[in-house]
Amino acid sequence: MAYKTKQDKLKYHLKWKKLRRDKYIKENGPCWNCGSDKDLEIDHIDPLQKKIRAGDLWSRSKKVVAQELSKCQILCRVCHAKKTYGIDKKRIMKLRYMARRSR
Ligand SMILES: [Zn+2]
Repeated sequence: MAYKTKQDKLKYHLKWKKLRRDKYIKENGPCWNCGSDKDLEIDHIDPLQKKIRAGDLWSRSKKVVAQELSKCQILCRVCHAKKTYGIDKKRIMKLRYMARRSR
């Protein structure tokens, strides 16, 4: 496929990435937590296992994508935010606990 400009190429690339992402979400949704089909996002179940950000993932090879997605779940924006907040809260509590112990 020939592109007229660099911008055309970039636009096509972004569109293609979005299509791949949308297809995955459609096939694996709705939200695993509450069943909502609004504002669905890809979430790494265990953030420590995350190697590639979901946004960067779709330009990688099929094998890499499949490997990374096997560590992910589909969450709606609300559940995703709740999960992220919950993890941060746990981490903060752990840090506080460790700080207390080292005193
Ligand atoms: Zn949800």
